[in-house]
Amino acid sequence: MEPSSYIFDIKPYAINDGPGIRLTIFFKGCPLSCKWCHNPESISPKKQKFYTEKKCIGAKKCIEICPNDALKLTSNGLITDYSKCKLCGLCADVCPTKAIEMSGNKYTLNELMHKVEKERMFFESSGGGVTLSGGEPMMHPQIAIPLLEELGKKGIHRTVDTSGYTSITNLNKFINHTDLFLFDLKVVDQKKHIEFTGKSNKKIIENLNYLSDTGTDYIIRIPLIKGVNTSEKDFYQFAELINNLTYKPKEINILPYHDIAKMKYKKLGSSYDDEGLSAPTEDDISKMEEIFSQFNLEITVGG
Ligand code: SF4
Ligand code: SF4
Repeated sequence: MEPSSYIFDIKPYAINDGPGIRLTIFFKGCPLSCKWCHNPESISPKKQKFYTEKKCIGAKKCIEICPNDALKLTSNGLITDYSKCKLCGLCADVCPTKAIEMSGNKYTLNELMHKVEKERMFFESSGGGVTLSGGEPMMHPQIAIPLLEELGKKGIHRTVDTSGYTSITNLNKFINHTDLFLFDLKVVDQKKHIEFTGKSNKKIIENLNYLSDTGTDYIIRIPLIKGVNTSEKDFYQFAELINNLTYKPKEINILPYHDIAKMKYKKLGSSYDDEGLSAPTEDDISKMEEIFSQFNLEITVGG
């Protein structure tokens, strides 16, 4: 059987995921679970169901069609019994208002290449290409590597947007077929990394050093979040780490925190615990710029 992977979005005309106009493919599944993740549907590698209560008109078509008797309409909206639900998606298909939507469709290499071909003229005119994102695209080598190989054969620029959490062996496979990495760094302090992402950053820092040693182009992206990584100590730790890399990043992009993902958590039936998290102030960003400049490092907000 042809290998396939769950993908939760394919975004054409993307302009913030690498050079030029890009097609960004979002793979489902991530080894981290960052407290602020703005794509909560990216964390689980499985198909999921979104429910938007305010769109629900109580038509009950979903209840009638469900082969597993997994749905119940209550005064709090539709409730799914996940011990019965098989995520078949029939309820989403019949919902007239799209109050139910499925997240995650399986794609094969051929299906993805078909999408790529449709956008190719935009890459050629803008110096763009294809970005593999997620979630964590390196969790899907069975399809991501052949896809990167195919893109390489066609001369299409390849970017991989990664949390950096993978084995060196797997990273190496990706390095061989990638033109540019967007490498996320959340926080250098080990304890804080475990507290806010659920995992140690030891592997991530080792992989960043390894990537840099190979001379592959990469951009570092730092989600800047008050309550997580905006102390002077955090800024010095970031700057020292980056300053010690053998081959320096092409850019260091700062992505200021926002909470627009709140609604997505609700739709997935989970809660968004953002207590203590907020956007960085202008003073935080100025302080970071000042500390980074002591190491001759420049930061760009956005990217
Ligand atoms: S690494 Fe990215 S996709 Fe994974 S949980 Fe963190 S923010 Fe979400
Ligand atoms: S996804 Fe399928 S099994 Fe689950 S509630 Fe909808 S119709 Fe029922």
